[in-house]
Amino acid sequence: MVIVSNRLPIVLRESNGQWTMQKGSGGLVTALSPILENRGGLWVGWTGITKTMPIGEIKKVLDPFSLESGFRLLPVFLTEEERDLFYYGLSNEVIWPLFHDLQTRCRFDPGYWDAYLAVNRKYARTIERHVREGDFIWIHDYHLIPLAEELSRKGFEGNLAFFLHIPFPPPDIFVKFPWRKDLLRALLHYGFIGFQTLRDRRNFTDCLRVFFPETRIEGRGPIIRILIGDVETRAGHLPISVDAEEFIRISRSKEVTERTQAIRNDFGQRRLLFSVDRLDYTKGIPEKLKGFRHALREFPELKGTVTLIQQLVPSRETVPAYHVLKEEIDRLVGQINGEFSTGDWVPIVYRYQPMDRPELIAHYRAADVGLITPLKDGMNLVAKEYVLSQADNRGVLVLSEFAGSAMQLGESCLLVNPYSVKEIAEAIVGALSMPGEEKKRRLRNMRKTLRHHDVFWWVRNFLRASAGRELEDFPERELTPLSAPLVLESKDMMRKEEWV
Ligand code: UDP
Repeated sequence: MVIVSNRLPIVLRESNGQWTMQKGSGGLVTALSPILENRGGLWVGWTGITKTMPIGEIKKVLDPFSLESGFRLLPVFLTEEERDLFYYGLSNEVIWPLFHDLQTRCRFDPGYWDAYLAVNRKYARTIERHVREGDFIWIHDYHLIPLAEELSRKGFEGNLAFFLHIPFPPPDIFVKFPWRKDLLRALLHYGFIGFQTLRDRRNFTDCLRVFFPETRIEGRGPIIRILIGDVETRAGHLPISVDAEEFIRISRSKEVTERTQAIRNDFGQRRLLFSVDRLDYTKGIPEKLKGFRHALREFPELKGTVTLIQQLVPSRETVPAYHVLKEEIDRLVGQINGEFSTGDWVPIVYRYQPMDRPELIAHYRAADVGLITPLKDGMNLVAKEYVLSQADNRGVLVLSEFAGSAMQLGESCLLVNPYSVKEIAEAIVGALSMPGEEKKRRLRNMRKTLRHHDVFWWVRNFLRASAGRELEDFPERELTPLSAPLVLESKDMMRKEEWV
């Protein structure tokens, strides 16, 4: 099995000329590591750096990871220019905002598209040398949509599957993408295209019908067939998730139980609302803060009795739009705390730092309300994690109707339109006054769904749907020895070397 994603599942750091590596903590790594481990798989992706690094040094850093994890990392190198045009440019200044319905945040720079294709060609070159017939190649996310087309140009005929982690927009939004037909054509090169939700898959087929009127769709279930002239592919919707049992187990552990109690003690009798978001304009953070402010203004009984813990996880800090967003959030928190604080109460406890997992789960468990209101989100795993961490059966989830997870949890959580301060305020009050039995019933329903549709369900079903194969078809085996040549390409270094 070959996994391809924009980034490798590691973080490289340099300190005093020494490189060190840490295993990444993202959802995809958690989901796929246990699947790839000991199956001799390969993970291809960018190292995350643009600095020149001698091959010997890379090998020294990556080899121990391969040996320990049982799968190999195959790095792709990007120059600064490639990073700026492909990663910051087309991926994050065009596709990311547009696919989250935020077209006014797009920068349609004409130079971005060629760079996007060129970097995808680079990934294709790296992969081509290391795949064999019969390999199953699973490509992830919006950075790499043209990869299948680039690989087939090189004569690759194997099985290529794609999963889009972000939403797919409806036609009236998608139509603004300057290279819209090229992008749709690129997607049609995959044998299987996976989306998070039915909403996204429908948007995709609606876009196909607009640009390729001869499109025919066969089937009505979770997997459909798409036929356009002599092109045939399949598409499905499979919501990604987390390791549900692990969240349940950790939330009940002694460490988290004690930490939960300590957090509650810190706030005395006050009720707790908890939000954790990566710094990103899609997460609707200013809108949520305004909703909370509206609640404090309209429902005076909340004053002095409720605290919102807003945890903000640093992300893409060097991008100007994120910097501006951070300043807006800082200002709003200051304004709200300035307007309402008293001698012994501050309405918003605001932190700009990551949390380790037990601390995060303790906060989920301590909170009376999980307030998760993205403007649009492919899935939103935080919502799922909040539900799974309710060891005391007392939390209420307030969730944006535009999060992918709302498709699974919508009936049992309190859904809000994140653009409506009134709805957010009313949902906060509704959640705080919900009877205990109702909370329990809602949590039970959501937990049942999430335990069944966990991340392992997602992987298994993706493999079934895309390749007609079971996990067991990728037999556990000794890692292909590192003595097999791994060819690295680096333009920066102007040479190619065998990694033996
Ligand atoms: N998370 C994290 N560190 C933190 C806070 C959260 O790693 O300090 C994790 C969280 O547990 C969740 C993920 O980050 O698994 C966020 O996923 P989500 O789908 O909610 O949003 P994304 O940031 O991927 O858009």
